[in-house]
Amino acid sequence: MILEVLHFPDPHLREVAEPVSKDEVTDGLRQLAADMAETMYDEPGIGLAATQVGVAKRLIVMDVDWSEEDRNPRVLLNPEIVETEGRVISEQEGCLSVPDYKADVERHQRVRVRARTLEWEEVEFDATGLEAFCFQHEIDHLDGTLFIDRISRLKRDLYVRRRKKQLRLEREANTSKSPF
Ligand code: ZN
Repeated sequence: MILEVLHFPDPHLREVAEPVSKDEVTDGLRQLAADMAETMYDEPGIGLAATQVGVAKRLIVMDVDWSEEDRNPRVLLNPEIVETEGRVISEQEGCLSVPDYKADVERHQRVRVRARTLEWEEVEFDATGLEAFCFQHEIDHLDGTLFIDRISRLKRDLYVRRRKKQLRLEREANTSKSPF
C-alpha cells in the first residue's frame, strides 16, 4: 500500500522517533516496512524514514541504486551512526518531505552504522558517498531534523517563505472552487 508522505511544515516531521523493541517486530511492522519501500519507489526516492509517514518509530528503508528491474530495499531498525570520518558537501540534496527544493549540505564522508534487521540481527557496516549521505539524512529524520536545518539561515528562510506562499496559493485555489 502506498502511504502518504508528510510535507514540511507538518509538525509530525519534528517528532523524535522512539526505538523499536524486539516484541514490536510483528507482521504489522513488517507490513509498514513493505509499504514504506513501495512508497519510496513510487515517489520516487532512495530512502524513507517512518517519521515521514507519520510513524514515530526508528525505522528506515533505503535503496540508493535501484532500477525498475533491480529493487533491493534495505530495512533497518534503530539505526545509529557510531563513527564518522571527513566532512564533504552532499551536492543538491533533496527530500520527499521538502517539496521543490534542493541544496548543498555538509555531511560526513564516511559513517559507520549500527542497526537491527527485521530478523533482529545486529548489523554494523561502513557507508561512503551517496549511501553515507542517505544514512545521515534518514537518521536525521528520526530525530526530527530536516536537511534544511543544515543549510544557512538565509537559504532556509527563502525556502520557508516560498513554501508558505505556495501553500497559500493552493488554499486560495481550493476555496475559490464552486461549492456545488
Ligand atoms: Zn528526507
